[in-house]
This record gives sequence, C-alpha cells and structure tokens, in this order.
Amino acid sequence: MSASATTTAFRTCPFCEATCGLELTVRDGAVTRIRGDRDDVFSRGFICPKGTTLGQLHDDPDRLRGPMVRRDGELRPASWEEAFDGVARRLPPIVQRHGRDAVAVYLGNPTVHNLSGLLYGRVLLRALGTRNLFTASTVDQRPKEISSALLFGTMLSHPVPDLDRTSYLLLLGANPYESNGSLATAPDWPGRLRRIRERGGRFVVVDPKRTRTAEHACEHVPIRPGADAHLLLAMVHTLFAEGLVDLGAAAAFVAGVDEVERLARDFTPEAVAPLCGIAPATIRRLARELAAAPSAAVYGRTGTCTQAFGTIASWMIDVLNVLTGNLDRPGGAMFPKPAAGAPNTAGAPRYGRKTRLGRWRSRVRGLPETFGELPVACLAEEIETPGEGQVRALVTVAGNPALSAPGSGHLERALGSLELLVCVDFYVNETTRHADVLLPPPSPLARGHYDLGFYLFSLRNVANYSAPVFPPEPGQLDEWQILCKLALVAQGLGGDADPALADEAAIRTLIDRAAGEPSSPFHGRRTDDVLAELAPRTGPERMLDFMLRAGPYRLTLDALVEQPHGVDLGPLAPRLPEVLRTPSGMVELAPEPLVADVERLRASLVGGDRQDGGTLLLIGRRHLRSNNSWMHNLETLARGRARCTLQIHPTDAARLGLVDGGAARVSSRAGALVAPVEVSDAVTAGVVSLPHGWGHDLPGVSMAVARAHPGVNSNLLADDERYDELSGNAVLNGIPVRVAPAEADRPA
Ligand code: SF4
Repeated sequence: MSASATTTAFRTCPFCEATCGLELTVRDGAVTRIRGDRDDVFSRGFICPKGTTLGQLHDDPDRLRGPMVRRDGELRPASWEEAFDGVARRLPPIVQRHGRDAVAVYLGNPTVHNLSGLLYGRVLLRALGTRNLFTASTVDQRPKEISSALLFGTMLSHPVPDLDRTSYLLLLGANPYESNGSLATAPDWPGRLRRIRERGGRFVVVDPKRTRTAEHACEHVPIRPGADAHLLLAMVHTLFAEGLVDLGAAAAFVAGVDEVERLARDFTPEAVAPLCGIAPATIRRLARELAAAPSAAVYGRTGTCTQAFGTIASWMIDVLNVLTGNLDRPGGAMFPKPAAGAPNTAGAPRYGRKTRLGRWRSRVRGLPETFGELPVACLAEEIETPGEGQVRALVTVAGNPALSAPGSGHLERALGSLELLVCVDFYVNETTRHADVLLPPPSPLARGHYDLGFYLFSLRNVANYSAPVFPPEPGQLDEWQILCKLALVAQGLGGDADPALADEAAIRTLIDRAAGEPSSPFHGRRTDDVLAELAPRTGPERMLDFMLRAGPYRLTLDALVEQPHGVDLGPLAPRLPEVLRTPSGMVELAPEPLVADVERLRASLVGGDRQDGGTLLLIGRRHLRSNNSWMHNLETLARGRARCTLQIHPTDAARLGLVDGGAARVSSRAGALVAPVEVSDAVTAGVVSLPHGWGHDLPGVSMAVARAHPGVNSNLLADDERYDELSGNAVLNGIPVRVAPAEADRPA
C-alpha cells in the first residue's frame, strides 16, 4: 500500500454500549471520514455524533503517547523502563510491609469497552490479590447485578427488552434517546422505540424529568426521585389484587411467587402514592396495561440503580416481567446468547452456586463486599483512615473516580495522600494528575476490538471483531502488555519482566478450566495441543479466539476476521431453563437477601413524603454528546451551548429568585458548588438536574478542550455516606440539596 493510498476500515464503535458499526476512510495514515457502516449486521448504518470522533481521539494532542513519572513533584515524560522500574521499586515493598490489601484497585467504565481491559484486568487483580477492589459498577449498576445473580444465577444474566418485537415497553430511569441504551445493547434505540409506536404498540417513560425519550413516548409519568421501588411494588400488588398474574410458559421454572404476593401486600397504590408522587389510579392503570399487552417488557437503568432502594427496584422490574408472563418470550424480556464469554452458556445448566454477598466487609465502615468488590463510596475513607489494612497505594485503570465517585471532593483529597498512585490512562485528568506513574494504553484505533462485555446484553445475537486500523505508535506497549507487566511487577518479578509470561499463564488457565468441564468442546483436551491450534496468535486475540471456539456457536476469530460487518446469529430465542445457574435450577423470584431488604422499604412507607420543605432533590442527566468525563476533550462533542447547567422548574426558580442564565449556589451535606441556571419545565417541581463527569478546571489537568468547557463536578454534592444498603451502590438520584442565588459567584 502506498503512503497516500485511501483505504476503508470497519470498526465497532467503542464509545458506548450500542456497538454500532463504523466505516472509516483512511488516507496518509489519518482518518479522513467516519460514517455508519450500512452493511453492519446490527447497526445498518446508524451512527451518533460520538461515533464520528474516533479519529479525533486518535489525533488528540493531549492523548499521551508515552508514560509519565512524577519527578520533583511534577509529572514528566519518561521511558517505559523508567516507569515500570518506578512501580517495581515502590509497589512490592508496600505489599511486604503492609499486606496485599494495602494496594487498592479502581477499574473504570471504559475497561468494559476494550478487550484487553476485560481480559487482562483480571490478570492484574489475581496478581495483587487485594480485597480492596473498587469499580464503576458500584456507581451505577451493582443493584441490577445482584438482582440478576439472585434470580437467575449469575451477575451478568440480565433479561433485556426485546424492543424489535414488543408491543408495550415500560422504561424507568433510562434515557436511551441520549444514552443509546445501557445493559441492553442495540444500535439506534430511538429508531427501535419509534417503531414500537409505528406498529401500534406503546411505550411509557417513568422519570422525574421529561427527558428526550419521555418527549417521544406515548406517555410520560413523572415520579419523585428515588421512589421506583415503591411504584413497582405497588404495581406488583395490583397484579395480585386484581387477579392479573399469569406466568405463561415460564411458570414451570419459577419459585417464590407466593412469597412475592405476601411481600407486596402492604404496598397498595394508596400507600406509595405520596412517596412516588403518582396517583393510585395511574399506578393501577400501568399494571393493567402491562398485564393486558400481547407482549411487554419492563426496563430500568441507571436511575433505578442509583437510589437507596436500587436493588429492590431492579428486582421488581424482573418480577413484573415474570408475573405478566413476559420473561423469556419474544417481545418480552429475554436472555441473549452471546458467542463468547457468557457465564450462563458455560458449564452444566440449571445447577449453580449460591450467590453469597458480604463475604468480607470494608475495614472502616463495614460495608459489604459484592462479587469481590467493595463499594466505591468507601474508597476515600479506606485511604485516609490510619490503621492496619489502610490503603496506601492505588492502581486505576481507565477510571476517573475523582469525578465519578460519590463524595468526590473527599476522594480528591484522599488521592493526594497516597504513598503510590499508578494509573493506566491516556489523559492527565482529575484523577491521574495525582499519579506517581502514568501508563498510557494505545489509541483504540491501534488495537483490536470485540465487545465481549456488551454482547452479553445484546438485543440480537451478533459477533463482530475489528482489527487494528493503525500499527502501534513507536515504542507503544499494548494495554494487555501494560496490565501483564504490572501483574508481574506486583509479584516481585521486576520492571523488565516479560508480559508474555503472564499472558501464557492466563491462556493456560482458561484452557485448563475448559478441559475439566464436561460440557466444553475442549473437555479432556491437552493444553499444549490447544495452544498449537491457536498459534501464532498471542494476547487478547488468542484469548478471544479460544473463547469463541468454546462458545455456543463454535466460531473462530478467523471466521470473524473474514466478516468485517459482523456475523448475525439471529434474534433472541427462549432459553429457560438452560440459562439458569441458580442452586435450585429455577428462577428464584423471592431470594432471601432481597426479601429481607423489603423491611427497610416498608419502614420508608411510614411518614409518607418526608422531604424537608427547604430542599430540592438533585438528579443527573445524560447528553448524546457525552459518555462520562473522558469524552469532554473532543472539540466536536464539547462545542456548542453549555451543557453543564442546573436545570430547575420555573416555579422553584421564581420562589428562589433564580433566573435563566444566572448562577445558583447548590449545597448538600457533602459539598457545594456554583452552577449556571437553566430554567426548564422539563424537570418536575421540587427536582433539579445537573449532569455528571464535569469539573475540568483543576490544576494540572492536561485536557485543553475540556478545560475550556470545564463545567462543575456534580459528585461534589453526592454523599459518600448515602448508599443502597444491600448493594453498597451510591445514591446519586434524589440527593437533597439547597439552592440559592449566587450572584457574587456568577460565572463569566
Ligand atoms: S450510539 Fe454509541 S456505539 Fe453508536 S456511534 Fe454513538 S457512541 Fe458509538
């Protein structure tokens, strides 16, 4: 190929969960155009504004091309050798002196969007062996994972709404017109929702804000923030009270229905109405509509998880799907069957291990472990509180907890007190500015991609591998190499350890496990023979190839490479009971930890609406041009009208003396900030809204575009002492705040 040749490459977009296919035009080593891949088997040409910026991320001058090391108090460019030697000199001694738990890990959301992060993050975790693991899951999705594990047997067994065939969709706490869906993977959610209406169906949005999704819905039902669990239990109550329960074909595989009926008895629509702000008649009508629809699905996302009763809300979403006969039927809530990596396609069906929560607790506050992790709400205190087991070093991978964690002002201060902070990230952001060693992964365009994580939640079974578009930049280590080297350094093998050692151990572990599993096609196979079949690939591509071969469709990576637009594996099909991995082999509709938590919800009924008259309730919001903090450095996405505004209802604004374009001082128990005011009747009276992921004006942040559009950090207001007790998930939905004019602090 000549240097000036124009070529076309196809990629799955890594920016959000929708997995759209992109068509890239490449000339002279640069991306000159990106558009939707019209031949992509899933997205059929759909693209959103974020998808067009992959080339801009590749070219971003602020994206680090080499490591940084702190010298004389400043982050300065360094060689890879110097960077890893620095870690090797400082990390193992901390473990030797203070034990493994003295090193904490934080894995950010983008880890799930890349193959290396998913496959080799666990290699690092195994090497460190710490109980102080924190991830973005306890920011916004742990309740869903707990509910799915208890009901269906694995934390990733989420039934997803079968959008393309349903006739009725009830959405709670989700805004897919902006987010393009979450834990329910599909390109073009807006188009799929529109088509529900076009074929005579109905979709209803329950949300404290009239979001863009709500504007396009058949009906918007405003709800008081944090009251989804109450509403959903009252709908369950209505189904039983009116004799509308019909489990359909799933009936033979469901246990615990009587227990659910007993639990819902006190949650009459009249009892919950003052908390929800929804009339009893509306609650009953929603339940009746759901039961009467030829097919229906209830779907809830971030807003339903980020609240004090998030796990109950997540549970009740699936309870409603079960009780109306919509679990596991076309048009209802169905289980995907991905080509690789799904815990509910491997091993013997129906008999799984009991989900155990709280196997250990955080040192300071005693918050429970879930799936090997502690709630991020307690990270700051684990760093700051002296004593045995104190966190003294932190490794972050693709995470910016200084902006995304609750009580982020507290965490920001704590980060500065660490003995060692090692960050795997390609930006100097609000978290990594504190780093002692900063190790940048390659641009997404210089690595292979397969959405191992998001195909687990896909609304259609597809598989699509994207080869790297560009070679690595000179001297650049791949992300898997960085993570493997860190793992080896943690084991005391020194900064010059060969990452291939850890890679070899990881693939052998995977093959050995499959060889011991009777249902695996590799059962009884010799590891060396399998490795020979996978040669000459190494790294994530070898792992992926093996996982595809071991998966339910027996694909190979070679087969996917030949299909740059992806392989369509068909619509979702019923999977009960083989999908289940619960100890009983049934859908356990009333698992003990969830049943016990209902007492807490019942207690909240007493006293009705107890909101302090002087406070408003803060909620977040999504925007199409943003997906967490790291996309704010892309000019195309950042420009335009300021988006980080405090939205407030006109009646509240008038009462408080706030005007559109003015400034408001917003304060909570956790902190305070000043934000520009946007008066809007899209938010319900009593509610204010501020997006998250902003606040880029801190010293040392090297993201020029983001600094020019800094916004304010909403998580300064999120209280790290408020969380869902069962999951430890942060409460970000319905934070009590006081709002007042801040004319003296009015932004320029
Ligand atoms: S919707 Fe998501 S996956 Fe699709 S182009 Fe936009 S950011 Fe990429």
